Amino acid sequence: MRKTLKILYISSEVSPFAKTGGLADVSESLPKELKESAHDIRIFMPKYGSINERKFVLREVIRLKDIQVPVGNKVAVANVKSSFLPQAKVQIYFIGNKEYFSRTGYYVDPKTNKDWKDNAERFIFLCRATLEILKKLHWQPDIIHCNDWQTALIPYLLKTVYQNDKFFKDIKTLLSLHNLSFQGIFEKKEFALLASSQDVSKPDSSLEFFGKINFLKAGIINADFLHTVSKRYAKEVQQSDEYGFGLQDILKKKSKKLTGIINGVDYSIWNPETDKLLPNTYSRKDLKGKMENKRLLVESHGLIFKENIPVLGTISRITEQKGFDIIIKSIDKIMRLDLQYIILGTGEIKYHKLLEKLAKKYPGKLAVNIKFDDELAHQIEAGADMFLMPSKFEPCGLNQLYSLKYGTIPIVRATGGLADTVKNFSQETGRGYGFVFEEYSSAALISTIEKAIAVYHNDKLWKKLIERAMKLDFSWQVVTEKYLNLYNSLLS
Ligand code: ADP
Repeated sequence: MRKTLKILYISSEVSPFAKTGGLADVSESLPKELKESAHDIRIFMPKYGSINERKFVLREVIRLKDIQVPVGNKVAVANVKSSFLPQAKVQIYFIGNKEYFSRTGYYVDPKTNKDWKDNAERFIFLCRATLEILKKLHWQPDIIHCNDWQTALIPYLLKTVYQNDKFFKDIKTLLSLHNLSFQGIFEKKEFALLASSQDVSKPDSSLEFFGKINFLKAGIINADFLHTVSKRYAKEVQQSDEYGFGLQDILKKKSKKLTGIINGVDYSIWNPETDKLLPNTYSRKDLKGKMENKRLLVESHGLIFKENIPVLGTISRITEQKGFDIIIKSIDKIMRLDLQYIILGTGEIKYHKLLEKLAKKYPGKLAVNIKFDDELAHQIEAGADMFLMPSKFEPCGLNQLYSLKYGTIPIVRATGGLADTVKNFSQETGRGYGFVFEEYSSAALISTIEKAIAVYHNDKLWKKLIERAMKLDFSWQVVTEKYLNLYNSLLS
């Protein structure tokens, strides 16, 4: 029998409490699955102001009240509340501090759309508070599983400030890299907040980054093992600056301690047969509901519904990473094709403005929703015929996986997780279930959409693609086994 593992999973976003992207989905699903496999998994996350305490039944944890957390030469106070993941027995601890986390906006000030000025301090607090709370809780995990820069200082702190603390002696750390383009880079002066003068006097080389300090770099160097969310991305981040954003050489040096495990899908949330957010559920065997969802989706966006006009959907952070520069460059040509296109997303203001302008230029063809709307996300997945995701780089990507389950054929660029999960349809072999292009260019994007439309008009062929896509299984069960193997290898 396998040993029951004690795992602390720490993440700056966990669905349904706080979400800006795929990290939140993973931070909900993986712990759920680990708990199903009878492991002692607990989650820590910040108690953001926007988290509804009543709705999610947060309760104070008496012995985790007023915990003193050193932040440089100051002492900040952490108060912990706890609850459970919905429909699961996973305990989640919310780390609260009025000054740092009560505001709305997790990383960015919603008024200015700029990063909060005290982000270094906020996440230094989160990392140190985590370690202080563990001690108060008298709970010694076997593994601390960190995610992205916001929690990457934990491995660093364990190897520096807490190196002689016996409580942490046997704990192993795993750092998951969900996106190398976000690293938590701050001015050197912020180091004073990380360690009081009696801890460590100056940033060591693992933190230093071109005259600044870099939280993710410190995590990469000090973690016992690293993980990216697809195999292809694990290779890409070591190859060039384009993917590694300055950390490629360091990642290459740690390549023996770096692995790729693709994210799974929580089919209790993303399944067209049971999805409560859809007007009509449907299955591979009976697609009538999908067509009805398409009609409702199209009409609710003020577009005219025609059964045979393909509807393209995109749900995304609106940033260059997700391919919005080539989408916008190509839009005039895309709009000349016989299709309708519905976009949902938020992100860079310059793209918001451009997209809204384009929606006015192409009424009846292009609809743009600048907002975060989970219900609409499900309805686009279900109502669209194709899902466009032309990412410049894509660590894993979840929407292409949701699209496959919803019979919404993905059109993607061959990068990271998109390359690992979408098999290009080939007329010659008749195999595949998506449309994949290599070169990051508008020409490649447009010609691939054209190819997809041609196949779409071949009814029999298109149905086959849908059938194949909906049959695929990216469930967490298989993926979780891989994580367990990784955790166990760290402990052996
Ligand atoms: P990311 O790089 O943003 O993490 P992923 O594809 O891994 O990209 O995950 C994105 C997740 O966020 C998906 O669950 C997607 O449906 C969701 N999402 C992104 N933008 C929006 C939005 N504007 N409204 C609702 N859901 C969104």
